[in-house]
Amino acid sequence: MNDGVRLRKTLEGVPAYKPGKPAAPVEGLTAYKISSNENPYPPLPSVVEVVAEAATNMNRYPDMAVTRLTEALAERWDVPKTHIATGTGSVGVLASLINITCEPGDEVIYAWRSFEAYPIVVALAGAASVQVPVTDTAEHDLSAMAAAVTDQTRLVLVCTPNNPTGPHVTDATLREFLGQVPSDVLVVIDEAYLEFNTAQDAPDSLALYREFPNVAVLRTFSKAYGLAGLRVGYCIAQEDVATALRKAATPFGVSDLAERAAVASLAAYDELDVRVQALVLERQRVLAALREQGWPVPDTEANFVWMPLGEDSAAFAAACQEHGLTVRPFPGDGVRCSIGESEANERLLEVAQAFRNR
Ligand SMILES: *Cc1c(COP(=O)(O)O)cnc(C)c1O
Repeated sequence: MNDGVRLRKTLEGVPAYKPGKPAAPVEGLTAYKISSNENPYPPLPSVVEVVAEAATNMNRYPDMAVTRLTEALAERWDVPKTHIATGTGSVGVLASLINITCEPGDEVIYAWRSFEAYPIVVALAGAASVQVPVTDTAEHDLSAMAAAVTDQTRLVLVCTPNNPTGPHVTDATLREFLGQVPSDVLVVIDEAYLEFNTAQDAPDSLALYREFPNVAVLRTFSKAYGLAGLRVGYCIAQEDVATALRKAATPFGVSDLAERAAVASLAAYDELDVRVQALVLERQRVLAALREQGWPVPDTEANFVWMPLGEDSAAFAAACQEHGLTVRPFPGDGVRCSIGESEANERLLEVAQAFRNR
């Protein structure tokens, strides 16, 4: 009898990633996808141009060392090239971070609820997730996270601003936390939404990486830079960690198109920042309006808002869908709505008001 090939037992405990759904059309309405925290703006013409030029070269493998992007990042952030590792999105780099630190059974601590990919990459590595509940204001509980560290802990993830709830951790609390974590435990600061964070007390993660050798800073081109479809992210960490990451990376994972687009986007950041600041203003407008309607929306420094709807989450997502808006429900918990085009944001506010009055 054939029961199929023997797959790793660990896989049974690996949850499937649920991507944000595509926008579903509704008669007479422009449909909007505000379920994946994507940048609603199309790529810059200057970026499209370099990608189009590079398209004729795709019979060739890319530069395995990702030299040009590494150099551009080293210059942009004033760090040694040897402290940079790039990868297939920051989730690709994150998987490598777990793989270089964890043997089966080792522990990875992170807040919950946080980014959906965390439990998946941890479980795939055979490591164990230690989830520390966020506070009732949806923030990281860094003292509880410090208290959760054991001899088995190899890595702690700090997601700031936190996906999907929105709040950031402050520089002071993060610094205090780093003072409590043993220096042989890697602390990964996931800053996917860094550019949207306008808080005065936001962490200076590069200063923390310089001060604490066990800090790794994880960043992406997917959100503020608008390159989600090209899959490129990076880590800045001390040389031992960065070297191990380059060893563990998927060979040729960063495509030539992705590398060129990322270099061009770094060069054009002033232009991108105008869009980021417009999204920040929209976020503030949406946040204030939802609170005005009476929704207990937590603070957000990202490009999304979190509506803690509990058991109503699925119903609210369905109401949005009826109005051509695709949001991201976490059934039983809440709904994450990305800040999108102004019309999408406006419609979200209308649906939210109607849902409140229902
Ligand atoms: C979107 C996101 C990322 C970025 O993922 P990529 O693989 O770079 O597209 C990383 N971390 C968090 C918390 C995110 O929300």
